[in-house]
Amino acid sequence: MRKTILTGDRPTGPLHLGHYVGSLENRVGLQHEYATYVLIADLQALTDHAEQPELVRRNVLEVALDYLAVGIDPTAATIVVQSGVPELAELTVYYLNLVTVARLGRNPTVKDEMRQKGFDADVSAGFLVYPVSQAADITAFKAGVVPVGEDQLPMIEQTVEIVRRFNRLYGPVLVEPTALVPKHARLPGTDGPSKMGKSLGNAIFLSDPTDVVAQKVMGMYTDPRHIRAELPGTVEGNPVFSYLDAFDPDAAAVDDLKRRYRAGGLGDVALKRRLIEVLERFLGPIRARRIEFARDPAAVARILREGTARGRAVAQQTLGEVRRALRLDDRSD
Ligand code: ATP
Ligand code: MG
Repeated sequence: MRKTILTGDRPTGPLHLGHYVGSLENRVGLQHEYATYVLIADLQALTDHAEQPELVRRNVLEVALDYLAVGIDPTAATIVVQSGVPELAELTVYYLNLVTVARLGRNPTVKDEMRQKGFDADVSAGFLVYPVSQAADITAFKAGVVPVGEDQLPMIEQTVEIVRRFNRLYGPVLVEPTALVPKHARLPGTDGPSKMGKSLGNAIFLSDPTDVVAQKVMGMYTDPRHIRAELPGTVEGNPVFSYLDAFDPDAAAVDDLKRRYRAGGLGDVALKRRLIEVLERFLGPIRARRIEFARDPAAVARILREGTARGRAVAQQTLGEVRRALRLDDRSD
């Protein structure tokens, strides 16, 4: 049987360069080889955007357009909108009994995000347990492979723990997933070493127009001590070089730039001009395809409807097995 992939994104904003290298590139590359499900996680987005349901709703379409623009092919991969699959919520409720509150509080990614968002003890219960809802997403599709960025590794670990506990207690129903982490698993933001995030104000979006990309690159953080072109500069932790490493197909040219930057004599402005060219070459075709798809929102809505229906059928099947394992016989008819 073909192995199954599940990944997804929260529709909290359009997708960015970090999504591309962290996950989208692998999804596009593997979609013909694996049974691929791509989840637009609107329920998860509500865990920290409960007061902005309109924003989440609007971004479901934006994220779908980004998928199509980068080459996710709806005849190969199934795009599923999470809120259209209520079975995922039911699975979450069962899994919550298999996880302790202390364990949830130790999740390093959730801890980081709580700090970033200033949640502290005011965190909503829904946000704290979102790793469990991710376990429901992954296991509902019986996914064996999850192509994700580095920040998602604790979620996969949490899922594996739930799967093992479930299967030990109730019988072998769920599939244990493994994470597929790419080479550039954590692209930094334009503002320095922290992760590029769509809610963090430090992202270059796949849909950004040429002039916006140029403006964001020109404002990028570099080596703060490299104040004159002739001074030697630092490459490590310099996001301009991280982007060149990820998006410039000419690795030898990037090595040469690094050498010149370290030695002194290569200014930030010249370096950034080069990055703008590289990004434009990468983003130009994506932008053009996105504009094409955006012309026909009804066709995109149909892709989402059909994908969600296909995905729901799979989740229903898994939920039936889970309910039988839990001795929750169907008494509804
Ligand atoms: P938010 O700020 O709303 O959490 P996000 O930018 O973190 O948004 P998500 O939808 O949470 O994006 O993440 C979707 C996928 O993209 C995950 O697999 C995640 O690992 C990957 N990803 C997100 N940001 C990056 C990044 N900067 N580098 C590499 N991968 C990333
Ligand atoms: Mg995130």
